[in-house]
Order: sequence, then C-alpha cells, then structure tokens
Amino acid sequence: AKKLRLDKLLSNMGLGSRSEIKKAVKQGAVAVDGKTAKDSGLIVDPDTQQVTFHGEPVVYRDTVYLMMNKPPGVISATEDGRERTVIDLLEDEDRLLSPFPVGRLDKDTVGLLLLTNDGQLAHDLLSPRKHVDKTYEAVVEGDVGEGDKAAFTEGVVLDDGYKTMPASLHVLKQKTAEDGQVMSTISLTIKEGKFHQVKRMFEAVGKKVVYLKRVAMGPLTLDDDLEEGTYRELTEEEVERLR
Ligand code: URA
Repeated sequence: AKKLRLDKLLSNMGLGSRSEIKKAVKQGAVAVDGKTAKDSGLIVDPDTQQVTFHGEPVVYRDTVYLMMNKPPGVISATEDGRERTVIDLLEDEDRLLSPFPVGRLDKDTVGLLLLTNDGQLAHDLLSPRKHVDKTYEAVVEGDVGEGDKAAFTEGVVLDDGYKTMPASLHVLKQKTAEDGQVMSTISLTIKEGKFHQVKRMFEAVGKKVVYLKRVAMGPLTLDDDLEEGTYRELTEEEVERLR
C-alpha cells in the first residue's frame, strides 16, 4: 500500500469524516506505533506502521472488489449528470475507495458487473488481447437455431463492418406466443466486448434481443441469490483467480 495521511487512512477505512478524525486525533484516540498521534496530517506507511483507533488496531486495505447484479435502468459509469449510476447503488462506506465499473453494460442490460479501484486488473480484464470470456443469457425474438450457431461460430459482420471472433451459442428454451412469435432463450459466450456487441450480433442475423443479462466474466459467475441492485465483496480467492 502507498503512504498516505493518517486522516485519509482512517476515513478510507470508514472510521469517520476527515474532520471527525481530526477531532479524534486531538482527543488522543489515535496512535501510530504505540505513540499517540498529534497531527492528523502525519504521513504513515500502512505496510510497516501500526495504527490504532481508540486502542483497536486498524487493518488497512486500499483495494476494493465488488460483484454487482446490475439492475435495469442504471448506467454503468461513475458519474452522469442526469441518470442514476451503479455507483449510486453503493453504500457510503463502499464508495470510500472509489470503485468504478470494469467495462460497461447497457442501461437496460442486467447482471454481473465487477467494480474495483484496481486499475491494473481492470485494464487487463478489458484488454482486447486477453480475450476474457463473457457469457450472456438473452431472450431473443425469433427462432434461434443451427444456422445462427454456425454463423456465430464463424463470426458475423456487424453494422460497422467488423467481423466478430468465434462465439459459442446455445439455445436454452423456446416458446411460441399466441400470435405465433417464437421467443428463444439463449446463452452466448463472446471473447471480446464491442459496443452493444450481443445486440448487434443478433441484428446481424436478423433477430432482436429483448432481454440481456451477463452471467459470467472470466472465472467469475454471478451468484444466483444476488438480487438485482445488490452486490457483495469478492473473496480473496476470487480476486486471485481474476489475475
Ligand atoms: N452486449 C450488448 O449488446 N449489451 C451489453 O450491455 C453487453 C453486451
């Protein structure tokens, strides 16, 4: 971890605002390596120095990794002038370390979204050269069949002329509505992440995605019991698997 101000370290750990921390320091409630701190601006090294708050050791960390089940209707960005963002869904204490979404899901897309402040990990996961698998479940208007599977395996040409990499398509379920419209529930795994890629791949074969959910990204699978709009921290093991 990087060296940082004592008040920043303590507020990052959710122990109070900067001014509350300042007060606590004044009252002698904060110690560094066993010595009562006098200055909340003291620069400390969390790797080698022991900080206590009201006598309790402060376990410092400076990274955060969250798995969210993104609900529909929110933007996967950190800030938006008008719209609600996934960051607005976080508890105050989970916003302290400034996580941001790794990649984007469309406003109407739901499902697995990783949020972290680990720029290196985010960069690696998004790198086009790494070809991290992303698996989606979708409801598609139309009879998705063998022709579409073959087309997606071969690669389809999107509206901007880009030819997609081989992708794996499975039909999970089909239903015919009263008006005769066939609806297909499918699973699709892609190794890249072009803008609106899944919707545009189906457009390329003349079909329309009406519901889209991401269920996996690399080694991470969305928890079945994580409700839309909620999130949890990744375990250390999950973080290791992402690296
Ligand atoms: N593909 C899409 O079309 N939209 C998403 O949100 C993700 C993948």
